[in-house]
Amino acid sequence: MTLRISVIGTGYLGATHAACMAELGFEVIGVDVDQDKISRLSQGDLPFHEPGLPELLVKHVRSGRLRFTTDYAEVGGWADIHFIGVGTPERAADRGADLRYVDASIQSLARHITRDALVVGKSTVPVGTARRLAGVLAAESRPDVNVELAWNPEFLREGFAVKDTVSPDRLVFGVDSGTAEARLREVYARALGQDTPLVVTDFETAELVKVAANAFLATKISFINAFSEVTETVGGDIRTLADALGFDARIGRKFLNAGIGFGGGCLPKDIRALQTRVSELGLNHTMDFLHNVDDINLRRRDRVVSLAHQMLDNSVAGRRIAVLGVAFKPDSDDVRDSPALDVAGRLYNDGAEVTVYDPEGNDNARRRFPRLGYVDSVADAARDADLVLLLTEWNEFKALTPADLAPQVRGTRLVDGRNVLDHAQWEQAGWTIAALGRRFDPAG
Ligand code: NAD
Repeated sequence: MTLRISVIGTGYLGATHAACMAELGFEVIGVDVDQDKISRLSQGDLPFHEPGLPELLVKHVRSGRLRFTTDYAEVGGWADIHFIGVGTPERAADRGADLRYVDASIQSLARHITRDALVVGKSTVPVGTARRLAGVLAAESRPDVNVELAWNPEFLREGFAVKDTVSPDRLVFGVDSGTAEARLREVYARALGQDTPLVVTDFETAELVKVAANAFLATKISFINAFSEVTETVGGDIRTLADALGFDARIGRKFLNAGIGFGGGCLPKDIRALQTRVSELGLNHTMDFLHNVDDINLRRRDRVVSLAHQMLDNSVAGRRIAVLGVAFKPDSDDVRDSPALDVAGRLYNDGAEVTVYDPEGNDNARRRFPRLGYVDSVADAARDADLVLLLTEWNEFKALTPADLAPQVRGTRLVDGRNVLDHAQWEQAGWTIAALGRRFDPAG
């Protein structure tokens, strides 16, 4: 019989997982507490941007293999497997992970499960959470049903979420029994049949793999960005440095792009939550380096703001600044903790007239920062601009040439916040270019 799967929490992770599980042939219901989101998804309307996902959503809503509900009772008596993909945002008080949504979803589910089931955590959680939740499930679910917990961290990347879900680069199963492992093997049979590496382990290792991966990636980005601070001071070419480093197979070139740093709904909160959790465990200094990683990352934003001031002769008030890109990364509309939006907002607060264009992120950015100007093209953003900031490396921006912007702008000044343009080409065309990791002399 076809496995019946529920996916609880239908945000970036959950909606993707639900649609991909339907694509793999399972019967799926997505559950969320957000009625508006559920209504839209039920109509095949994806509430966020993710390449390839709208097509899958429409296909499987139409086929009837994928449904959505706000009613836990509907899934408790129906699904064989319940994936938990609710949010674990940063807690304001101590920067730990806010587990209230995970706890609420487990409580609601436990109360409504009326048949044997496997509950599979996918949300990113502090180590120790799964073991605690297994206890909650055992205590709160009916004595006549067998409910087990597994932890299966998610490594999808926004922008590649469909591919990463259908063909992951590895699978990690944190399990307490062979039965749970066997069930997860059924779910991921296709990927396992394609020799996807599988790690079967305990809860704690599974939880730690996810945060360790994000801590490593954040560290790699801040590592090159720390060298940016050096090359900005002493001279040198950060891109060449990264290329040369990257040829070392032990290091690799990925995540060594110097720029305004990382953001989004995962890396920043995950490295903070890891520090908080490890301190709770009494390891007060173990993750201190992540504090530096975070600081280096945030200083990159200060650097772009300061470059903008320098390029406008320290009189930003009333000047027009075009911001190209506010999503935290290309191919996404996600502006959570976006360095680009932070920079745009700070320059607005300094008195600049900021006009933003992002191919997908404008609506989300407008909700967070309604006072910026939002337009629908590069040309409109650049019109009469005294300065252009390239802050998210969309292909559309990487392909820009001086001739594309020259007719619109008032000042031929540009900050390449992602180090993606051919600086020599722009300088030859008469532009003043500043970039992260590059020495900048305001006098030219
Ligand atoms: P999100 O904010 O987009 O989605 C979370 C969803 O959970 C929301 O739709 C919310 O309404 C819903 N929710 C909250 N409480 C609920 C409840 N009690 N019952 C049902 N639904 C509830 O977040 P996201 O980006 O999808 O991230 C979810 C988790 O996955 C986080 O732990 C995140 O760290 C992790 N993760 C995210 C990504 C990513 O790329 N976005 C990748 C890997 C892991």
